[in-house]
Amino acid sequence: MNLTEASAALQSAHTVLIVTHVRPDGDAIGSMLGLANAVRALGKQVTAAVDGGVPSFFRFLPLAESVQSELHEGAWDVMISTDAADEARTGSVGAYGFANSKVVINLDHHPTNPMFGTWQLVDAAATSAAEVVFTWLEHMGLAYDETVAMPLLTGLVTDTNGFRTSSVTARTLEIAHTLMRRGAVLTAITAKVLDAKTPADFALWQRVLPKARLEDGVATLAITLEDTRSVGLNEPDDAGLVTFLLDVEGIMVSAVFKEHAPDEVRVSMRAKRGYNVSDIAVSVGGGGHVQAAGATFRGTLAQAQAQLVPLLHEAVARGDREIV
Ligand code: AMP
Ligand code: MN
Ligand code: MN
Repeated sequence: MNLTEASAALQSAHTVLIVTHVRPDGDAIGSMLGLANAVRALGKQVTAAVDGGVPSFFRFLPLAESVQSELHEGAWDVMISTDAADEARTGSVGAYGFANSKVVINLDHHPTNPMFGTWQLVDAAATSAAEVVFTWLEHMGLAYDETVAMPLLTGLVTDTNGFRTSSVTARTLEIAHTLMRRGAVLTAITAKVLDAKTPADFALWQRVLPKARLEDGVATLAITLEDTRSVGLNEPDDAGLVTFLLDVEGIMVSAVFKEHAPDEVRVSMRAKRGYNVSDIAVSVGGGGHVQAAGATFRGTLAQAQAQLVPLLHEAVARGDREIV
């Protein structure tokens, strides 16, 4: 990691842009907001932006209202991209930022990151981009309050699914401990970002669960545009189903295929410890982590399943049941 170079670039900057990945999750918003609030406290002029803005369920985070949903003007000394597996994942605000920033810092934890940008703070062993932000703030010796601690703990909690993934180590819990000491409230985060389900989420589960297929260690589920519309969700979402399917005894990999358009399918995949879905995602142009990966597929739901389901079965055959 270019900790020294990135710190020097940040410290000499007056204006800083922070962006994250499109369709942001808790780590995307948490790492972006935690860093934005810490850098603001240094007296820098900070712009934070993500396409479409902060999803409603993360708006409880401090200064979430300061995040812009689009960018059409401005130029920055430094742009920082957080939790984006590649450049394209930073969306329109990222494209504008790349064209109008002198230095780009790529802060991430995806093993598939192609190392874009001027300086890289990429740690594939980190549980979350929020953990990388924590390490960076520690390296710079910055003191901070709950406006930083709360978003960072949100990133840790979401990307570890509540400290359950194999990426969790004693250090992860030490970081959580430090963040709680600095004012982050763990139960507020788990209740809001892990447990809460909207009535539309519930209606989706009720409607689509009968379609789930569990076969030879692989669980799959297809969600059509009609499913999404009929339950009143604005955007196709699995509402946590991909993780729920993986919890079934004997299931080693799970995948939810979400129809976004008649020729566009987004697939979310999860794997138990010892099994790998990242290779499958990469083979169809996506990315992610060994146990949680995703991709956007050009084609119909049936085509996406025809191509990927055999690969999911191969992943089960290649995996190591003993590790689990
Ligand atoms: P999801 O299933 O959407 O929660 O994504 C699981 C993991 O895969 C996350 O770490 C994402 O950042 C990553 N991921 C999802 N979709 C893509 C994509 N199209 N390209 C690269 N990485 C992705
Ligand atoms: Mn993310
Ligand atoms: Mn992440």
